[in-house]
Formats: sequence, structure tokens, C-alpha cells
Amino acid sequence: MSETEATPAVPSAKTPEFRSDVTVELVRSSAHDSDVLFAARVSTMGELTLDGAQASADGAQATKGAGLINYLMRDRHGSPFEHNSMTFYVQAPIFVFREFMRHRMASYNEESGRYRELNPVFYVPAPTRNLQQVGKPGAYDFLPGTPEQSALVDEATRAASTQAFEAYQRMLDAGIAREVARIVLPLNIYSSMYVTVNARSLMNFLSLRTKREGTHFPSFPQREIEMCAEKMEDLWAELMPLTYAAFGANGRVAP
Ligand SMILES: Cc1cc2nc3c(=O)[nH]c(=O)nc-3n(C[C@H](O)[C@H](O)[C@H](O)COP(=O)(O)OP(=O)(O)OC[C@H]3O[C@@H](n4cnc5c(N)ncnc54)[C@H](O)[C@@H]3O)c2cc1C
Repeated sequence: MSETEATPAVPSAKTPEFRSDVTVELVRSSAHDSDVLFAARVSTMGELTLDGAQASADGAQATKGAGLINYLMRDRHGSPFEHNSMTFYVQAPIFVFREFMRHRMASYNEESGRYRELNPVFYVPAPTRNLQQVGKPGAYDFLPGTPEQSALVDEATRAASTQAFEAYQRMLDAGIAREVARIVLPLNIYSSMYVTVNARSLMNFLSLRTKREGTHFPSFPQREIEMCAEKMEDLWAELMPLTYAAFGANGRVAP
């Protein structure tokens, strides 16, 4: 495995652990605003852009070029935003990974439930997580639950996860293969993966998996994948501030 791989938290005993958050770490990147500029300028400058490309590879930041980046974003010239790379380490429940992996413009590697015993770490919604769904398909709103609903979600999630993990453990203890025993585990068990994207594919992901006022094409994502998207967005904004600003200024439309 890569020397950059983070070590997931492993519970000391095989008793279920419950979390209400997600982990997103930037483990590797080569992503600068200047990557966008040299790629775009080859259009009009050809080989004269080679110095800029080399400087970008050395990590030089763009000192000017906000105007060009904004023009590219506004007119949806997308390919200059592909000459960069970010690798994120993510821990989240499997129901989030299932949504994540619909985004084909990314590369994924996930831990295996066949080659390792899964850790008993399960997602339970935080008390602040909205629980009631109102509206119509494609434009739902989510409102706070009553105290009774919150208690029910918490209790039922913990009970079902604990019971499922006990069944998993019982099968493993009886010599059943991991790939068979895991079939009883619920979607709220955590998994871990590396996701590698470029800025263009990340913008497509963010446009669909965050809900923001003032976007040209509003989206209504599940809150838990939005929690991952928000952390990825913050990390990307630090790497490519001009590109990030242009994305926001142009309605968060992926170019
Ligand atoms: C709020 C929300 C609700 C959703 N609900 C459902 C649901 O109920 N059921 C369901 O199945 N999915 C659902 N999805 C998943 C959704 O349909 C997309 O699969 C997902 O958002 C990935 O988007 P994408 O295809 O743009 O991303 P990527 O796969 O990363 O593709 C990026 C872009 O590349 C191009 N592209 C990629 N592959 C192809 C291809 N084969 N042919 C042509 N162009 C391609 C397209 O321009 C695409 O926009 C939902 C997504 C969201 C955000």
C-alpha cells in the first residue's frame, strides 16, 4: 500500500462504534491555478507556454490570470481545468460511497470486505440532522424531526447495527468466509477509499452534491454525501483560489 495511506481508526474491542461525521483528507495533490493558465494559453501561444507549464509543475501560483480563468469558466471551456490532480482519503458510510461512485470522472480504490474483516464502525445521524422529508421528487426539503423521531432513529439505528454486526461476527467465528458473512452488514457501516479527481470533475461533483443558494442549477443532495463534498470543496479552495472563485461567480456550473 502507498506510504501516504492514512490509518483508519480501529476500535479496540469488537463492540460497535457509532459516528455521525465523515473523514476527508487531502493526501496528495498537484493542483494550481497556473495549471489552468498554461493549458489554456497553448491555444494562442503554442510552445511559448512551455516555461509556464514548467513553473506550474514546480508549484508556482498564478499571480495574474483571474480574468482568463473567469472567461474559461463562464464560457464553459472545460478542458484547461483537467490538467491537475487531487487525491482524497475518505471514510464514510457505504450508502454514501454508493452515491459517490456514480461520479465516473473520478478514480476510486476502496477497502475490501473480502480481504479484510470490516471494523464495526456505524453511522448514526446526529441530533441536528433533519429527519422529515417534504416536497416533491427532485426538490425535497428536509425539516427537523420531533424529539420522539430523533430518539427513534438513534435507537433503531444502534440496535439494527449491533444485531447485524453480531451476526457477522458469529459467522466469522464459525469459519464462514468474509465475503459471505458480510452480506448481513447494513449500508450505514463505514468504509474507506481513495478518490482522485481533477478540478473539472470535482466541480461537476460539487455542483450536484452540494445545495447552495444562487446556483444556476440547484441540486438536492443527501446530506451525508454533502458533508463529504463540503470538506473536499474547502480543501480544493485552498489549492486553486482563482478557479474556486470563478466557479462560485459563475453559478457553480461545472465547465
Ligand atoms: C440529487 C441527486 C439525485 C440522484 N438520484 C438518482 C436516482 O434516483 N437514481 C440514479 O440512478 N441516480 C441518481 N443520481 C445520480 C445521477 O444520475 C448521476 O449518475 C450522478 O450525479 C453522477 O453525475 P454525472 O454523470 O454528471 O457524473 P460523472 O459520471 O462524473 O460524469 C461527468 C460527465 O461526464 C459525461 N459522461 C460521463 N459518462 C458518460 C456517458 N456514459 N455518456 C455520456 N456522457 C457521459 C457527462 O457529461 C457527465 O455529466 C442522483 C444524483 C443526484 C445529485
